[in-house]
Amino acid sequence: MIKFINANKWFNGHHILKSINLEISQGEVVVICGPSGAGKSTLLRTINKLEPIDDGEIIVDGKYLTDPKTNLTALRAEVGMVFQHFNLYPHKTALKNITLAPHKVKGLSKAQSRERAIKLLERVGLSHRCDAFPSQLSGGEQQRVAIARSLAMEPKVMLFDEPTSALDPELINDVLDVMISLAKEGMTMVVITHEIGFAQKVADRVVFMDSGEILEIGSPPDIFVNPQHPRTREFMSKVFHIPIFSEAQEEDA
Ligand code: ADP
Repeated sequence: MIKFINANKWFNGHHILKSINLEISQGEVVVICGPSGAGKSTLLRTINKLEPIDDGEIIVDGKYLTDPKTNLTALRAEVGMVFQHFNLYPHKTALKNITLAPHKVKGLSKAQSRERAIKLLERVGLSHRCDAFPSQLSGGEQQRVAIARSLAMEPKVMLFDEPTSALDPELINDVLDVMISLAKEGMTMVVITHEIGFAQKVADRVVFMDSGEILEIGSPPDIFVNPQHPRTREFMSKVFHIPIFSEAQEEDA
């Protein structure tokens, strides 16, 4: 579904993505983690060409992203994206935020896009908040509207860039529950998150990045419990307080 072939990107002479090779199958859930500045967000944004790459190739559902003929509007309808700060239209209600793109981009009638939006708001547990403006919604509710807005385009892939990191802790689970149900329904998902519980529950693979490189890819236990690369071990011990055992200690244990 998504294939990076030796993809490279520079910002102002800085090598931000270094020879990225990664293949993500349809229905797979891939979590990307790593320190701030590792290039995670840039990597994610290359998948819908919010950031173009400078070298190499990315193929999404058969479309070559370096081909200037690739239709970006069609690509972005297929690849939904959810941001850390929701990015809802502040002057439109929850319902209007969702109906807009299906009506304008996909050509659904107003009634069809409204019907779809109401179903999606039900699905994310917000059918009672159709007429609320973003400022009247909690962060968790805004993020669930943002997810519903992406789903209204019937994407084949969903990208999540730290979707819960701006939320109060007690609002995180409602958002994660929506994401878990999407994953279980077979949506192809690429998620930047440090929510280890989410990753353990639904991720097929975890990608660890640092300094623009993919250093390690594995199952959640491979990466969180038994990382091989020293940098992954160091990061996991700091962020998740997962102890680093030396081989001698492991033998003693
Ligand atoms: P992460 O998501 O892992 O925190 P980012 O992908 O946001 O990392 O950033 C990777 C590096 O690229 C950082 O050094 C950041 O400063 C730089 N960077 C990101 N976006 C831009 C941009 N638009 N222009 C210049 N540098 C950028």
